[in-house]
Amino acid sequence: MTAEIISVGTELLLGNVANTDARDISERLSELGINVYYHTVVGDNPERLTKAVEIAKDRADVIITTGGLGPTCDDLTKQVLAQAFGLRLYFDEKIAEVIRGYFEKSLHAVKMTENNLQQAYLPEGCTVFNNDWGTAPGCAFKAAGKHVLMLPGPPRECNAMFNACAEPYLRALSDDMIASHSIRVFGRGESSVEQKLRDIMNELTNPTLAPYAKEGEVLLRVTAKAKTAKEAEAMMEPVVNKVKAIIGDFVYGVDVGSLEETVFSLMCEKGLKLAVAESCTGGLFSKRVTDIPGASSMFLGGMTVYSTESKTKLPGVERALIEKEGAVSRAVAVAMAAGIREFLGADIGIGITGFAGPGGGNGLGAGSVFTALCDSGGSFVRELHLGSGRNRVRTMAVNHGLDMLRRRLTGLSTDFRPDM
Ligand code: ATP
Repeated sequence: MTAEIISVGTELLLGNVANTDARDISERLSELGINVYYHTVVGDNPERLTKAVEIAKDRADVIITTGGLGPTCDDLTKQVLAQAFGLRLYFDEKIAEVIRGYFEKSLHAVKMTENNLQQAYLPEGCTVFNNDWGTAPGCAFKAAGKHVLMLPGPPRECNAMFNACAEPYLRALSDDMIASHSIRVFGRGESSVEQKLRDIMNELTNPTLAPYAKEGEVLLRVTAKAKTAKEAEAMMEPVVNKVKAIIGDFVYGVDVGSLEETVFSLMCEKGLKLAVAESCTGGLFSKRVTDIPGASSMFLGGMTVYSTESKTKLPGVERALIEKEGAVSRAVAVAMAAGIREFLGADIGIGITGFAGPGGGNGLGAGSVFTALCDSGGSFVRELHLGSGRNRVRTMAVNHGLDMLRRRLTGLSTDFRPDM
């Protein structure tokens, strides 16, 4: 089955809003084993939308639209799609009641205007997708051998309705069930991973193996289509094992959350406490760890020691050391990790110091970062040259700090072996 996503909205064409709906839906469709061949973006213009639908009809089995379901006069998706498939719109009294109720319950005493009821017009014979996150309902219908699904534009509504309504609708189209595993990799780039797995990927048809580049890491998805979950699992297991054997300990988990969630679980399992002293990452390490609910069970705290003055407040981080080695150095990163560990009484201390860019210093270029880990077994440090882009350098520096922790907690060497 192939799909095309048509995103409707002039704001998308003007570049005011990024088309995250199409990205998110595509990702979910690949999990369902549905191939997305085209993304189309079209403004709030009925003629151009009609043309886009005519083209999509010829090249996709499933058409998913986002946006244009609201109450304003430029919200025309339902009208255009119904007309393109020769369906009439009917007024759905139940949906009208839901819309009236939404305004009655509104905390901000928003008054309903008549045009809100325009949202209660739906193509005849459609499956209604109730919108529990807003007012505009979505819907799905089958006509001319195609499945058409319509979802609202606001990402919060679009994503929630995809999960609650569109996914079950699409799953029910096939007798087969789709299952997938996500293999998460840190420390190897997408092209290197792809090169190592290319032969396997080319050979496989069911299950399939596909790489996705995530910020600073790679996600590999194994997807199988089978009659039962057990059968799908049996098909996927050898592929997952093969990938793990080839990519080795750069795989940090299968069906796990982020790197920080993996570290969080390992720290909790071992009953260990963590502290961080960070400079160039400006608190990002602490932020990422404390994004996890319950982080206080393993995270004692972090300090952003940005200036030389503040670094020397940590025990063992001497001004003389900073003057001799430079604030961005192996020795200072280690001293920061040891200092914060002692200061907060943690089992493990992390120290991060570097040049986020655009400038460098001390003979080092922008993107030069040292991440250090200190625990009862000693101190370990990574020297990294992460290139340019302040945000990217910071994100990667935190990822490396987390990866050192993950490796230390699983008995692996904390050394980083760059891609050759
Ligand atoms: P409503 O008008 O009821 O909010 P709608 O389905 O009519 O819902 P639109 O009016 O098309 O949605 O878009 C509302 C807002 O949602 C846009 O201004 C934009 O911020 C966001 N949005 C729309 N489409 C997308 C998209 N494809 N990706 C990300 N955001 C989007």
